[in-house]
Amino acid sequence: MKKRILLLAGGQSGEHEVSLMSARSVLGALPRERFDVTPVVISKQGRWLPPTETTRALETGKSAPGGDLVLHRAASAEGYDAVFPLLHGPMGEDGTIQGLLTLAGIPFVGSGVLGSSVSMDKVMTKQVLAAVGIPQVAWQLALRRDWQTNPQGVKDEAVKLGFPFFVKPANLGSSVGISKVHGAEEMEKAFELAFSLDRRVIVEAMTSHKPREVEVGILGNDAPIASPVGELSFDADFYDYETKYTEGVAQMHIPARIPREAAENIRELALKAFKALDCAGLARVDFFYVAETGEVLLNEVNTMPGFTTTSMYPKLFEAAGLSYGELVARLVELALEKR
Ligand code: ADP
Ligand code: MG
Ligand code: MG
Repeated sequence: MKKRILLLAGGQSGEHEVSLMSARSVLGALPRERFDVTPVVISKQGRWLPPTETTRALETGKSAPGGDLVLHRAASAEGYDAVFPLLHGPMGEDGTIQGLLTLAGIPFVGSGVLGSSVSMDKVMTKQVLAAVGIPQVAWQLALRRDWQTNPQGVKDEAVKLGFPFFVKPANLGSSVGISKVHGAEEMEKAFELAFSLDRRVIVEAMTSHKPREVEVGILGNDAPIASPVGELSFDADFYDYETKYTEGVAQMHIPARIPREAAENIRELALKAFKALDCAGLARVDFFYVAETGEVLLNEVNTMPGFTTTSMYPKLFEAAGLSYGELVARLVELALEKR
């Protein structure tokens, strides 16, 4: 019997377009003899688009604003064997959709409510990972209310980390709203931006030197495996939105150009983080490797990483001998096993 899969793409976050690209790749790759796939694109307004508009969105990379209500469509989704919520960022990767699908009793690809929501929030992630001894940069939490009532207090705390430091909305991705603060004069703008996007903001010390950006893929449920380690190189101050999404600006290196022991350490730390955060199915765990000191610091965990055929996560498993099509099929199997 063919498995009926509902593929959700688009979504309400700033990573809507990235998700549409990933979905197009997944649609093309799921083996037709085993899976019957129905895509549904969620508009930026959170409406679920009907079939013709979904097809148009996947073809053009842009979605219409119309569509049905979320709950209405979720209820009618009961005929599916599994859902692949290929959504990035808030309202997709953060446990919200996962909660809806859990209530509806439908198995889905990836982490559940707990793993998704904790991994989405950079502060919660850091707290959980600190508890299991995973090395990370020094950081602080700031709330929008603190900024509104006592901005000087927030600034005074932040400078204790030393310049430069990073100011980030706690619950976003794709480097949206992130600033690298080089001096006191840049603080106001950085905090204003981050607090315009989130109630919770994380202030992070920068690594001791410009870090090498290395990433590892994790695949599995309660007995997960780690991929080889990959690296991204680019000519920019940091890995910002433009560097991420402008074709040809960042280069991927698999395996990462780091010492073997560092790579082994990274793979072990990634598995430990995956378990500590209660992740399932897949995750891409991102690290900083500081070549000058040999330090390995965990940066973040993405529970629904970019998934086009040229994205890092599938490329890492391809390097391990698992083709894109096999990887996608495995993720659906893992969703069904999780039940
Ligand atoms: P996102 O979830 O949006 O990808 P990240 O936390 O990964 O946000 O930050 C984006 C980029 O900013 C990183 O890939 C890195 O280039 C840079 N960066 C973030 N935090 C630090 C830090 N503490 N030290 C050095 N570079 C950092
Ligand atoms: Mg992220
Ligand atoms: Mg990142």
